[in-house]
Amino acid sequence: MLEIADPIELERPQDKLIRRLCATLSGYLDPSQIDQCVRAYEVGAAAHAGQFRKSGEAYICHPVSVAISLAEMRMDANGIMAALLHDVIEDTPVSKKELADQFGAEVAELVDGVTKLSKIDSKSHAEAQAENVRKMFLAMAKDLRVIIVKLADRLHNMQTLGVMPPAKKRRIARETLDIYAPIANRLGMNNIRQKLEALSFEAMYPMRHAVLNSAVKKARGNRRKIVDIIESTIKNRLHEAAIKCDVAGREKNLYSIYKKMLNKKISLADVFDVYAFRIFCENVDTCYRVLGVMHNLYKPIPGRFKDYIALPKANGYQSLHSILMGPYGVPIEIQIRTHEMHRMSESGIAAHWLYKSDDDKTESFQDRANEWLRDLLEIQKSAGDSLEFIDNLKVDLFPQEVFIFTPQGSIIKLPRGATIIDFAYAVHTDLGNACVSARIDKQLVPLQTKLENGVTVEVITASWARPNPLWLNYVITAKARSGIRNYLKHFKQQEAISLGRRLLEKELQAMHLHLEHISKTKIQALLQIMSKLSLDDLLEDIGLGNKMPFLVAKRIAQDDMNASIKLNDNEQAQRKPLVIKGTEGMVITLAKCCRPIPGDSIIGYFNPGKGIVVHHHECRNSSVVRKKQTNWLDVEWSQDVTGDFSVEIRIEILNQRGALATIASTISEQNSNIENVTVVDQDDRICVDLITLTVKDRVHLAKIMRRLKELSIVLKITRIKA
Ligand code: MN
Repeated sequence: MLEIADPIELERPQDKLIRRLCATLSGYLDPSQIDQCVRAYEVGAAAHAGQFRKSGEAYICHPVSVAISLAEMRMDANGIMAALLHDVIEDTPVSKKELADQFGAEVAELVDGVTKLSKIDSKSHAEAQAENVRKMFLAMAKDLRVIIVKLADRLHNMQTLGVMPPAKKRRIARETLDIYAPIANRLGMNNIRQKLEALSFEAMYPMRHAVLNSAVKKARGNRRKIVDIIESTIKNRLHEAAIKCDVAGREKNLYSIYKKMLNKKISLADVFDVYAFRIFCENVDTCYRVLGVMHNLYKPIPGRFKDYIALPKANGYQSLHSILMGPYGVPIEIQIRTHEMHRMSESGIAAHWLYKSDDDKTESFQDRANEWLRDLLEIQKSAGDSLEFIDNLKVDLFPQEVFIFTPQGSIIKLPRGATIIDFAYAVHTDLGNACVSARIDKQLVPLQTKLENGVTVEVITASWARPNPLWLNYVITAKARSGIRNYLKHFKQQEAISLGRRLLEKELQAMHLHLEHISKTKIQALLQIMSKLSLDDLLEDIGLGNKMPFLVAKRIAQDDMNASIKLNDNEQAQRKPLVIKGTEGMVITLAKCCRPIPGDSIIGYFNPGKGIVVHHHECRNSSVVRKKQTNWLDVEWSQDVTGDFSVEIRIEILNQRGALATIASTISEQNSNIENVTVVDQDDRICVDLITLTVKDRVHLAKIMRRLKELSIVLKITRIKA
C-alpha cells in the first residue's frame, strides 16, 4: 500500500490523545509500565480499526480519553490497560482469553467485568428499580477498578453526547442521574459525580441549562472585580501571618445551583449572592490557624461556623466552614481543609486507594472497600451518629443478595444461593407452581441452577406441571418453601377428597344407594357422629385411608329402608373394584416393594394418612396385609393406562467385558430407560445385577425380558416382586 506521507496531516486525533496519556502516566508510572499501556493501546487500536464514533472520530479515541481521565486519578497500570481495552470484548472479535494471554489475567478480568456491567446497562430497566440496578452494579464488581473504569467510560460518553438525537441524549442522561451519579456519590467520588450531574443536566434540559449558564456567566463577570479584591486580601493576610497555603475561588456548579433554586424555590440572585473560597493547608493545625486569621480579617456571621474536621460528616467529609461578612457587606463562604481531606472529598474510595503509596496489588475490591470503611469509621469515631450510613454502605459493598432480571426488565432481589425455583416463586406463586425449566440469558438450564448477579431469567411453564416435594431441597427463600408446601398440601387434600368420594360412591353403589340422593339431614347426622365439620372433611379422611369407606357406607345404609332390605343379598354381591391409572398422584401410590405395572393383578391397601398403596397380588407384604380384611380393597388397572412404570429385574450374566453395556443397549433398544443398576453378587464367572427399568406394561416387560434371554451372556432373569 502506498501512502503519501505528510508529517503534518499524519497527526490524527488519537495520536495526540495517546501522547497526552503517556505524558500524564509518566508522572507516576515506570517507563516499562508505560510501554505496556502503549502496547494495550496498539492492540485496542488494531481491534477497533475501521470503527468510528458517532462524531466521526476513530473509535480508539474513546478508550484513550477514558484512560486519560483515569490517569488524572492516578489509576494503576493494569487499570489503564483495562480502560484502553474496555470495549474490545464487547465490540471486536478479541476474546477474554487473548487478553489474558497478552496482558495477564488481571487485565482480562477487569475488561470482562466492565463488559458485564455494560450488558446490564443496555438492558431496558424500569426507572423505579434504579436502586436495585445500583446495588447490582456494586454486587457484580469483584474489583473496585471495574466500577471506576465504568464511571470514567460513562463520563466520556456524556462528554461526547453532542451528536446524539435529543431523545437518546435524554435517556442516557436520565440513566446517568439514576444510576451512575448516585454510585459515584455512594463511593464518595464527588468530583466525578458533579461532572456527571452537570453533563446530564445539560442533556436533559438544554434550554434551562443555557439560560442559567448565561445568567451565571453574566453574574460572574459582574462579580469578578470583587472576587479579585477579596482573594488578594485573603492571600496577603495569610502571607503576613507566614502561613503556607493555597487559596482558590470556588464556583458552584450549574446543576447544584439549579437544584437549590428548584428545591428551595429561590431566585438565582439568592443562590448566587455568596462569594465562596477554599483554602488548602498542609495539616490540621494550619487549618485552625487559618481560621483564626480569617475570623480576624472579616467578622464571622454567628451560628454559621461548622467544624467538620472535629466532627466529620457521615461520609467522611472533613473541612472547616464559616461565613464571613466581607467588604461592601457581601457574605463570604470559606472552606478550610488539608490537601488530603480535599482528595478524600473529591475522590472518596478511589482517593483512598489511588493515592496510597504502598501498592499491594493483591488486594481485592472487598479488601479495599473494607479498608475504606475502616478508615471512615476511624474518622467517625468522635461523631458517633453515622454508623447507620456505614452499615448501609457495608451492605452495598458486601452484598448478601443477587439481582436478577425478568424478561420484561424488572429486577428481582434474592438471597445469595437462590435457584430458579426461588426466582419463579418470587415473581409469582403461580409461576413457581407451574415451572418446568428455565433459560438464563437464552441458555436452557435445570431448575436447581443457582443464580448469578445480573442475568436474565426466563421461566418456562407447562399446564401439567406441579411442584415436586424434591424442590424443597433446592430452595432457600421462605416464599418458595411455603409456596411448594401449600400447593402440595392443598393438592393432596383435593386428591384425597376426590378419591374418598369415589371409594364411598363405590361402596354405596353396592348397596344400591347414591351419595347425592342421601338427604342433607342424614349427612349432617352422620357428620356429627363421625365428628366431622363437612362432607369434604369426611371424604378427605376416607381418601387418606383413615376411615374405611365400607364402614362409612354401612353406617349411612343402616337406617335407610331401601338399603337395608337389599343389604342382605348384598353380602354376596361382588363389589366392583376401584379402577386406577397408577398416575393419580399423591393418594394412590404404587408400592416400592413389588412395583406393580399395568397388566399385573393388584390389590390396594389403606395406609392411614397416606391413602391407598397398590401392591402386586403376589407381593409378600400384601399377603400380610390381606389378613386384616377391612384394610384392603380390590383395585384394577384402567383400560387406558399410559405412562412409564418402574419395575425391578434380577439378572445373572457372564462376568465379561462389555456384558453390562450389551444389557443396557438391549434394554434401551426396546424403548425402556434404566433407572438404577446394583451389583448384588459377583465372582470370576458370574455377575448378578438388580436393574430398575421403566416399562409401559406387562407386555412391554415380557418383550424386554425375552430379548435379554436371547443374549448368550444372560444366564437367568427374573422379575422381583418383593
Ligand atoms: Mn466505552
